[in-house]
Amino acid sequence: MTTATNQYYLQFTEDMKEDYTILAPNMLPAHFKLICNFMNTYGYHMELLETEGPEITELGLRYVHNDACYPAILVIGQFLDALLYGKYDPNKTALIYFQTGGGCRASNYISLLRKALEKAGFGHVPVISFSFSDLEKHPGFKLSIKQLLGLIDAVLYGDLLWMLVNQTKPYEINAGDADALEAEWINRLGESIGADSNLIMRHSKSIYREMISDFAAIPKEKRDTVKVGIVGEIYVKYAPLGNNKLVDFLNKEGAEVTTPGLLDFLTYCAYNGIVDKKFYGRGGLTFWVSKISYHYLCKKKRVLIALLEEEGSFDAPCPFEEVVKLNDGYISNGVKMGEGWLLTSEMLELADSGIKNIVCVQPFGCLPNHVCGKGMMRPIKERNPDINIVAVDYDPGASRVNQENRLKLMLSTARDKLS
Ligand code: SF4
Repeated sequence: MTTATNQYYLQFTEDMKEDYTILAPNMLPAHFKLICNFMNTYGYHMELLETEGPEITELGLRYVHNDACYPAILVIGQFLDALLYGKYDPNKTALIYFQTGGGCRASNYISLLRKALEKAGFGHVPVISFSFSDLEKHPGFKLSIKQLLGLIDAVLYGDLLWMLVNQTKPYEINAGDADALEAEWINRLGESIGADSNLIMRHSKSIYREMISDFAAIPKEKRDTVKVGIVGEIYVKYAPLGNNKLVDFLNKEGAEVTTPGLLDFLTYCAYNGIVDKKFYGRGGLTFWVSKISYHYLCKKKRVLIALLEEEGSFDAPCPFEEVVKLNDGYISNGVKMGEGWLLTSEMLELADSGIKNIVCVQPFGCLPNHVCGKGMMRPIKERNPDINIVAVDYDPGASRVNQENRLKLMLSTARDKLS
């Protein structure tokens, strides 16, 4: 086996692809499982870590300073837990870390991960940086255009599954139907969009249609639920490990949950490459790639919306071209650290679609989200008095009981309004 390094990092080489297991952190369970299945059709051995428990936080804190953001502590803790106590051979294991390449601290967390690995005796474990901005080069992990387009499809299918499960679960007659159907689709989809697939739009449309009608066919009954939207920092918004299984908690309390999809975040990143020209004069290739990507992603979402509306059983999200304008008069589109202006727009999108109870989640001390999330709550409430937004912070010392009590209070206020 050859190991390749440059002066900064250990690379994942072509011959590692053969027999290395690549571990992925659990940020969005459905999406990431789908991405692992999809990548495995190209000869990788990618596995999603689904471990949980306080020992992950403790391990993270042992190797990462507690000043680091909570998502970094959890992701690094989960990786170390797998290498120390999991079933993996550290000499045949690589890790994958997803990065946006944005200006926030997350872009530096890969260095923290490598430092923690070194400290724990795993300096020989390669870490693949995965980003659409091509931040690092790994000869064994080079993605073709077809693979990149397939990954975007995986994100979109993940969003659709997420949406369908969330809108089905609170009303299913046989508990577990929605989860079982989701698992079945995740297995099928890896193959359908994988190495041997034909990625033309029509093919995708027929899969979307089938998925939507499968979920529509699950036996359901009308129940009084409170609709709750979740927005916030991308990791704690989606990861059950980061938000103490927020979606499960809300479901148990009789709420129907809506969380804006991951595709919106990718589209937001592409849009930021366009506005950079207007605000900072940054044109060139980045501008054109961002522009093309933005229109491609917007079109993908519009197709999905049209199919959801055509079938008629489920609420469809709002086209991204409209999301981009919702923050007008609240916060500039030049504010783009972390979730930036998108976080404000998502709260307004939920409110416009009739979801007036919103949980805004963030890691404690997350500056961009305190500006664009918590910081925007007051102007949003002033102009939309019927909205109930609750901010919940997550960090290693946060009390789960306190978090759940805040949520219970929000739900009881919402139920009072219903009655
Ligand atoms: S968005 Fe918040 S949690 Fe994420 S890197 Fe930035 S400060 Fe940390």
